[in-house]
Amino acid sequence: MAQDMLTRSPAVKEVHVLWMTTGLGCDGDTISITAATQPSIEDVVMGAIPGLPKVHLHNPVLAYENGDDFMKYWYMAAEGKLEPFVLVLEGSIPNEKIKSEGYWAAMGTDKATGQPITTNEWLDRLAPKAIAIVCAGTCATYGGIHAMAGNPTGAMGVADYLGWKWKSKAGLPIVNVPNCPVQPDNFMETLLYLLYQVAGLAPMIPLDDALRPTWLFGKTAHEGCDRGSYYEQGQFTTEYGSPKCLVKIGCWGPVVNCNVPKRGWMAGIGGCPNVGGICIGCTMPGFPDRFMPFMDEPPGALASSTVSTVIGGVIRSLRQITQRSANKEPKWRHARRELTTGYAPKNYGKQ
Ligand code: SF4
Ligand code: SF4
Repeated sequence: MAQDMLTRSPAVKEVHVLWMTTGLGCDGDTISITAATQPSIEDVVMGAIPGLPKVHLHNPVLAYENGDDFMKYWYMAAEGKLEPFVLVLEGSIPNEKIKSEGYWAAMGTDKATGQPITTNEWLDRLAPKAIAIVCAGTCATYGGIHAMAGNPTGAMGVADYLGWKWKSKAGLPIVNVPNCPVQPDNFMETLLYLLYQVAGLAPMIPLDDALRPTWLFGKTAHEGCDRGSYYEQGQFTTEYGSPKCLVKIGCWGPVVNCNVPKRGWMAGIGGCPNVGGICIGCTMPGFPDRFMPFMDEPPGALASSTVSTVIGGVIRSLRQITQRSANKEPKWRHARRELTTGYAPKNYGKQ
C-alpha cells in the first residue's frame, strides 16, 4: 500500500535531506559517513548515481551555509514549503517535559517567541511532513549511552518518542541504522535505498522488529568475525593482544546483530573483534545497560565456551593430524627419472 503510494506519485526530481545533529550526541555519525564509499556522500549529492533524484543535503556539520542561510530550509520544511524531504536524526531525543528550566537540546530560534526551538519541537513540526525518517547511530535509534539507567535527560530513541508504529505520510516506518558511530556504508546504503524508494524504483525497505534493515543486521557479529575459527576450536584468550577468541574477556558477538566484523569500518578495514576490541552490543536496543559491565564474560559464554573447549580441542587435534599429512607431497609425485630436468648433468647433451 505504502509502496503503491510512492510508485504512483509523480516522478520525484529533487529530494532534500534534512539532517538534524541536535539530538544528544557527538556528531560522530556525520563524521563517520564522510568515510562512506558504497556509495560516498559525494556521489549521492553530485548526481553520480543513475536513477536518483537530485539530492540537496542540509547537515549543520557539513554545510557551507550558516545562520539564516542554513536555517531557512528548516523553516520552509516546517511550513510545508520544502517537499519532499527525508529527515535524518542523529543523537538521542531528550525529554523536555522533565526539565525544571532551560532546555536540553535546541536548534534555531522561533521567529514568534524569540526562544530556541528544541529538538522535541523540531521533531513535532517536521515528522508529519517528512517522506521518511532515518535514524543514524545508536543514540537516535535506541537512545544509546545517554539513555542509560539514571540519566537526567530522559533521553530516548526517535521511535520511543514518535512511537514504534509511527509511519511517514508516505507510509514508511522509521528506519533505524544503529552502531556507535553508524557504520558509514551501512548508513549510505540505507539512505540510497530510501532515495530509490522515494523515486519509485525500489520496493518497501525490509526491516526487522527493531526497525533495522534486514540485509545489514540479519547476522551476528560472531558470524562475520575473523576469530570465529578460534571459538570453534575452543581457543579463548584471557588477556588482550592475542589473536584468539575474546568471549572470555567480554565479547558479546555471538548474540549481537552487527555486520561490522564482516564489513569493516572504513574501506573494509577494522571491525571491533577482528582488531582486538570486544563487541559491546552497540547495535542493540538493550545497549548499554544490558551489556554492562563491559569487560565481564557475558552470561552463557561460560557454558558455550566450556563445551567448545572440550569438543573444539578434539577437533583441533584431529585437524593437526590431517594438517601434518597435507603438508607432505603425495608419494606418487616423488622425483622419477623421466620427470627430472633435462638439464640434469646425466642427461646433459642428449636433447
Ligand atoms: S571474538 Fe567475539 S565475535 Fe569473534 S569469535 Fe569470539 S565471541 Fe565471536
Ligand atoms: S561488533 Fe559489536 S561493538 Fe563493534 S560495532 Fe558491532 S555491535 Fe558495536
